[in-house]
Parts: sequence; C-alpha cells; structure tokens
Amino acid sequence: MSDPLRLLPWQGPLWRLTAQAIEQERLGHALLLSGLRGTGKRAYARVLAAALWCKTPLAQHLPCGQCDDCRQVLSEAHPGYSALRVEEDKRDIAFEAVRGLCERMGMTSHDGRSKLAIIDPADALNNNGRNALLKTIEEPPPRSHIVLISERPLALPATLRSRCQQLRFAIPARGEALAWLAESGAADPAQAAAALDAAHGAPVLAQQFLNDQSLALRQTWRAALLDLAAGRSEPLAAAAAVGEAQAQPFLRWLYGWLLDLLRAGLVSGGGGEVETLARTLPHRALDRYVSEVQENLRRLEFNAKAQLVLEAMLIRWSALVALGRRT
Ligand SMILES: [Zn+2]
Repeated sequence: MSDPLRLLPWQGPLWRLTAQAIEQERLGHALLLSGLRGTGKRAYARVLAAALWCKTPLAQHLPCGQCDDCRQVLSEAHPGYSALRVEEDKRDIAFEAVRGLCERMGMTSHDGRSKLAIIDPADALNNNGRNALLKTIEEPPPRSHIVLISERPLALPATLRSRCQQLRFAIPARGEALAWLAESGAADPAQAAAALDAAHGAPVLAQQFLNDQSLALRQTWRAALLDLAAGRSEPLAAAAAVGEAQAQPFLRWLYGWLLDLLRAGLVSGGGGEVETLARTLPHRALDRYVSEVQENLRRLEFNAKAQLVLEAMLIRWSALVALGRRT
C-alpha cells in the first residue's frame, strides 16, 4: 500500500489547479471528483483534506503527512473531517447521515478552521439526501467544503452538479501507470501489464487486481466472451460459469471491457481476436448493448435476480456477435 497522503504521479496537473484555488482562497464549497474507478479520486480527496489543515505543508500546499493534523486525517479522526459512505448491506447513504453532516457543517468550529466532508460515492445519495445536501450547498457555511466522489457523475441531478467545482480524473498514460505499479511493488512486469489491461488503464484498480488475485478471474471472463463470440460455447453455460455471486463484478468489468472494445473498433490495425471482434461488431448495436449493461448494473443494485440478468446479458451478447457476422 502506498502512502495514502501522497498524490499519485499522474495527478500533478490537477493538483496545480487545486493548490492555486487553496492559495487564492477560492476552493469551492462543493467539489465533484469524477472519473473511472481506479484513477485515484479517493487518495486525492484525502490529500486535499490534509492540505487544508497541515501545519507544515510542503511545496504547492501538499500536506506533510507527518504532523498531528495529517495523522488525524489519515485515521479519519480530524475534528474538521467527516466522510459519508454506504454502510454495509445498505443500498444508499442514509438520509439521517446526510442531515447530521449538514448540521455539523453549519456549526462554527471552535478554532475557526475549515471543515471538509467527503461523500463517497455521491451517486449513492437518495432523493432526500440530495435535497438536504443541495440546501447546504446553495447556502454554504463559511470555510466548509463538501467533496463529492463519483464514477457516474451524470447520475447526479444537474442542479447539484452545476453547483460544484468539477475535477475530472483521467486515465494516465500507460507508461506512467506501469512505472507507478512497478514502484508500488508489482514485481512481474507482464502481470502488471495484464492487470492494467483488465483495469482498462486505471492504475489503482490494477493494483487492487494484483493484490487480491482477481486478475485470473477477469481473464477467465474475457475468454468466456471470446468463446461465445466464436461460437465455442453457449450463453446459459457461460452464465452458470460466471455464477450469480459474481454477477455485479462481472457486469462492472464487462462495462469497462465493452468501452475498450468500442475504442478498439475506432482504430485500424491490430490483428488480435479482440481487435478483429471490435471491427466486425456494428458500432450502434454495441453502443446500445453498453447502455443495457449499465442499466442491468442498476437493476442488480435493486435486487434483480442475478442469474437471470447474467443469462439475459450473455444471450444478448451472442445475438450481438451474430449480428456482426451477418453484416
Ligand atoms: Zn502535515
């Protein structure tokens, strides 16, 4: 695990803007950190929190990671810091938690210092929570900052989004990502590269794959889709092989893989099985399928029958590939 109060190497340009905002005291009362999973949004939010309070900041307002305030941010015990997340076995962030947070943000801190709250992920706020938050953001208490983190910023109401300073986290250059993985302990370059592919270029997610050994699973899924595409297997058997317990991780992975496929279809060259597939699939039908996957991910969050969803999506995949072969 890398030092959690260190900026990730590809975040430098984004940080320069944040440092300037801190410097000129115009850091937003509401910030929206958006971008694909595994690009380091959470790490960035913690660095930002510590930067507000650090007693011995480094250049560019970066927190030292050593002083009392930095340590309290690291252990989530800082008096000015709060974080809202989805509790285990819950679907969304409880309204009571949002109301409590808004009340805390409204109170003047005893030492007059800033307050910062992280809501992660912000798309897990329910309607009541969003409305309560919107009120606080519309009339923000002085020296308060609410940091919304989301992989799906478009799932947030436009009224909320439009009031946030937006920070977008992009996928870093491949070389930079691989160098960071090596530096953070990935011993085998080939495995690091495979993990980065499986993570669609998102380094923090790739690191997670390397740490929890789930890379093999993703390679199995990739092979299953290619087998279906080549007519070497049947959708129902493939769905059973994935298993309902893995339905959600599978669909999340599938979503990213399809986006890669869409991108691969736009570039010429590359003779691999995936590139060939990308060129034969009708672009608009593939695009529609991506939306269906996203829609079904939502349905799974709301307790749709996982095995049925898997079967439906893999039957649709086979149909999509068949369509590609005909055209
Ligand atoms: Zn410090």
